[in-house]
Amino acid sequence: MPKQKEAAATKTVATAAAKKIESLREDIRRNDYRYYVLDDPKLSDASYDKLMNQLKALESEHPELVTADSPTQRVGGKPRAGFETYRHKVPMVSLDNAFSTEELQDFDRRVRELTGRERVDYVAEHKFDGLSMALIYENGLLARAVTRGDGTTGEDVTPNVKTIRSIPLRLDPAALKKAGLRGDLEVRGEAIMTRKAFELLNEQQEEVGGKRFANPRNAAAGAVRVLDPTITASRRLDFYAYYLLMDGRPALKRHSLNLEALNTIHFKSSFRDAKVCEGIAEVERYISGWEKKREKIAYEIDGIVIKVDEIGLQNELGFTSRAPRWAIAFKFAARQETTVVNDIIVNVGRTGVLTPTAILEPVQIGGVTVSRSTLHNMDEVARLGVEIGDTVLVERAGDVIPHVLKVVKRGANRHPFEMPAKCPDCGSAVHHVEGEVAYRCVNAVCPGRLKESLQHYAGRHAMNIDGLGEKIVEQLVDKKIVKDFADLYSLKLDKVANLERMAEKSAQNLLDEIAASKKSPLDRLIYALGIRMVGERTAQLIAEKFLSIEKLSEASLEDLNEVHEIGPKVAASVREFFDESSNLKMLKCLREAGINPKVERKAPKSNKLAGQTFVFTGGLANRTREEAGELVVAHGGKVISSVSKKTSYVVVGTDPGSKFDKAKELGVPILDEAGFEKLINSK
Ligand code: AMP
Ligand code: ZN
Repeated sequence: MPKQKEAAATKTVATAAAKKIESLREDIRRNDYRYYVLDDPKLSDASYDKLMNQLKALESEHPELVTADSPTQRVGGKPRAGFETYRHKVPMVSLDNAFSTEELQDFDRRVRELTGRERVDYVAEHKFDGLSMALIYENGLLARAVTRGDGTTGEDVTPNVKTIRSIPLRLDPAALKKAGLRGDLEVRGEAIMTRKAFELLNEQQEEVGGKRFANPRNAAAGAVRVLDPTITASRRLDFYAYYLLMDGRPALKRHSLNLEALNTIHFKSSFRDAKVCEGIAEVERYISGWEKKREKIAYEIDGIVIKVDEIGLQNELGFTSRAPRWAIAFKFAARQETTVVNDIIVNVGRTGVLTPTAILEPVQIGGVTVSRSTLHNMDEVARLGVEIGDTVLVERAGDVIPHVLKVVKRGANRHPFEMPAKCPDCGSAVHHVEGEVAYRCVNAVCPGRLKESLQHYAGRHAMNIDGLGEKIVEQLVDKKIVKDFADLYSLKLDKVANLERMAEKSAQNLLDEIAASKKSPLDRLIYALGIRMVGERTAQLIAEKFLSIEKLSEASLEDLNEVHEIGPKVAASVREFFDESSNLKMLKCLREAGINPKVERKAPKSNKLAGQTFVFTGGLANRTREEAGELVVAHGGKVISSVSKKTSYVVVGTDPGSKFDKAKELGVPILDEAGFEKLINSK
């Protein structure tokens, strides 16, 4: 081909690729908005992954077409050495607080006096409890994300914030037009963690033996301010917007219009739950309404923010040295209180671990009476320096069990807590491995363990047996009616109805719930068994791999190790569980009671890959790795996670990892995606 023609042809290919890339990005952005902002996805996870993999593949073929606003850039790059500081164009001020209706009315009176209005419209909205941030868009693109810092200067945390999926990397031009906005603007709001994300995080922390986070606010703030953006990405943060600025001023002439515009340009914002209130009395009703409902919100709020709606009035009112005169934060009742530690007892957990628990002088915290608090373990007792008789500061964060923050005053007759030598529930010896944190009851059938195990088994994320609460479990175990999970399924109505707090009707309800739990899917059952280090996610992975309890119980350590994301410690713990004869007996009883869930798998398509092992590395364009793996299995092959000399093929996609190098080093046959397709489609 003549040089010129060749160049022209290359150019056509490149424009075609550019078009395809842009259309994939659009599809992904649209879906991100549906999924992360509206919470109403239209695509399955698998189809979404497919789009993403296609985009990744095209971008790696055409690196010159990669842009900073591409959805592929959300993964978070390399850790950085430190943060750069950034001076806010307009300071991010704090808010004055009101703790009572009187203080709120004082605020309203001041506003009316200063503006000469008889009545003022206010916007009341949630006070998000997270880390406040400014997002700076230039030409519709997210140029910079900065923390509040000291209000004047913050830290540039752009790579971290890009991993937050509810934040648009690029503003949709059509949406901007609809809102009547230009693409140069500043969005301010709060990076938060939902209760659900927080629970998941702490569950994962427990699985890997990491430390628990005290509350979603600390976890969110920590996740934004880490140097490694991949950590931010793994924390599932959210962002709620509440200010919209253009040229350093509110973009539209009422605060409520700004909130609406934020919603229009695809931000999660306080718009949905905010309310324009005509006068302070209506604000008070809004506050008491949400104070009652606050536990039901997906995220934590620590109060309500009230702002003068008209920006003109806001300008008249101006600022004091630290806060606007046109806004106030009404703070809900404290979630922290001080109280006395009357005693420290031990509580036997379902794995036999003895947990020191503080028995507190009952105290009201945010409308709930708190009378005990876990101290987690002996290291924590030592760290807090807490002794019986001390006065401590206790915090209650959302649904999370209350915990002791610190000792505020040593008791006059304080005395230290010591771990007992015998289990308080069964009197068996307490075992402690030097160097480990945990103390355990050695008795495998300790009633204390059984109670906790049963409650875990019945939990919402496990077999979901509503009504099998602490008090009922306690009686069932103490009266020796239930000795393991399987006994639940042969409970008799009269026995249950005779328990305290029970009557015929509630007993029947409980039995119905128990019967309904027989239909629980395999992953929930695996999770419910309470195998050490097997959380919800691990249970799902195991279920997908082994398809039934029988198969799982026969799995060798090697089989278990092959499961993606499962390490040797977890594998050993699973094996240990199924090596225990009492567990096998219990599982047999469960099976006889009709609990034997299976994951359905399609029959093999052929046997042409029998005896062959495949390792995948990097992303594929035409299907997800899971789908590719299913194809291998469907043709009789096997997918494994690490490369050895015996591996038949290593399939290499885009951005391959170290397995690619290993394959080259060991001389294992390497397939690209096309080669893999060929092999699958061959006779
Ligand atoms: P505080 O940190 O308790 O002084 O409260 C002031 C902070 O509340 C502000 O700096 C914001 O970070 C945060 N905040 C949370 N929700 C809102 C909201 N809806 N409007 C304004 N600020 C909010
Ligand atoms: Zn015991």
